[in-house]
Amino acid sequence: MKYDYLIVGCGLFGSVFANIAKKNDKKVLVVEKRGHIAGNIFTENIEDIPVHKYGAHIFHTSNDQVWRFVNRFASFNNFVNSPVAYYKGRLYNLPFNMNTFYAMWGVKTPAEALAKIEEQRAAADIKEPKNLEEQAISLVGTDIYQILIKGYTEKQWGRDCKELPASIIKRLPVRLTFDNNYFNARWQGIPVDGYTRLVERLLEGIEVRLGVDFLKEREILSSMAHKVIFTGPIDAFFECCYGPLEYRTVRFDTQIVPTENYQGVAVVNYTEREVPYTRIIEHKHFVFGAQGRKDVTVISREYPEEWNLSKEPYYPVNDEKNTRLYDQYATLARTREDSRNVIFGGRLGAYRYYDMDKVIEAAFDLVRREGLHGPENLI
Ligand code: FAD
Ligand code: UDP
Repeated sequence: MKYDYLIVGCGLFGSVFANIAKKNDKKVLVVEKRGHIAGNIFTENIEDIPVHKYGAHIFHTSNDQVWRFVNRFASFNNFVNSPVAYYKGRLYNLPFNMNTFYAMWGVKTPAEALAKIEEQRAAADIKEPKNLEEQAISLVGTDIYQILIKGYTEKQWGRDCKELPASIIKRLPVRLTFDNNYFNARWQGIPVDGYTRLVERLLEGIEVRLGVDFLKEREILSSMAHKVIFTGPIDAFFECCYGPLEYRTVRFDTQIVPTENYQGVAVVNYTEREVPYTRIIEHKHFVFGAQGRKDVTVISREYPEEWNLSKEPYYPVNDEKNTRLYDQYATLARTREDSRNVIFGGRLGAYRYYDMDKVIEAAFDLVRREGLHGPENLI
């Protein structure tokens, strides 16, 4: 066998693991079915503006080790995500904070905001939130749920809020301060040279073969390495023998618009059910409009859609049905002969709604489980 590890998928998980394994003097081959590296964090320049091709990505973490690690491969700017929500001609700040509560109810102090939320929560009479709708009403009351959450979420997930897990909405901060920072993380930013360059640096000196679908050549490829790290969809690995896991996908409609500043902020969420897209991203604001031409801007509208095999699987649907199905595949992964030397990882391999920092943490965990020296020992 020529390689210690065959890594399937050149996204963040595969690239971080490949980097550390190589530094441990392991022989590594990365195969990627797309024609480019970096998986879903791929960025490409359009009109000199770095465009996030598979959806806007803002790096944020509270993990010191993760932050130190990524800063070895990229320099980050001090972008802070402060999206705005648009609903029937009115704008509201996100995440849910005193600015939102003021725009919604005219309340001016935290005590007034809290009283309003409490009043709506009591009227809804929810004891233990069992689904996303109940969780949202418990957190921010009925008005905010109806105006800023229900329509957006049902577009995003294609399911009724009562059928979705509460965990989806728990991601969003609720604050009684005038703070529009979308994340609670200690560090946040965008790589100044783009995410693709960051991944390029992670993969320096590593053999990468693009345009190779592991599942079409699995026998030959598996025979080349002691272990396979598979970061594609776990159900696809097992030919969907129990039926396919469900994903949500997004269609990005990217346009060059002949104006300097289209919406004044990187992200505007459209929370009405009737508007077919969920967000408009204006990419130049991730780099403060400092790069690129003054006469144009690039925007992407995001249209969530149900996934099928011809589309990219972006968001795992971690509801009860799919969680049960995933558990069946995970059991297979532990027990079936042909997956004895295969390790599943990343957002698709683990069927988890991971952010980038969590994907890096998961890659670090795998490094430890494999008995390799971790990133802190390799500087
Ligand atoms: P991926 O990037 O999906 O990489 C997997 C790779 O495997 C892909 O390149 C795929 O082509 C390849 N592959 C699959 N099957 C095969 C096969 N059979 N053979 C060969 N190659 C294969 N996180 C944040 O922290 N901040 C954000 O703002 C943020 N925004 C997001 C917005 C959107 C729209 C989405 C969908 C996700 C967002 N995320 C964000 C999450 C982030 O994208 C992921 O955490 C991260 O990219 C996952 O990396 P990965 O390596 O697990 O998966
Ligand atoms: N969400 C919402 N209204 C918004 C923004 C988010 O209801 O204006 C909900 C929605 O259910 C979404 C979840 O919060 O799926 C998490 O939002 P986040 O912005 O973290 O989603 P992502 O960027 O991962 O698509």
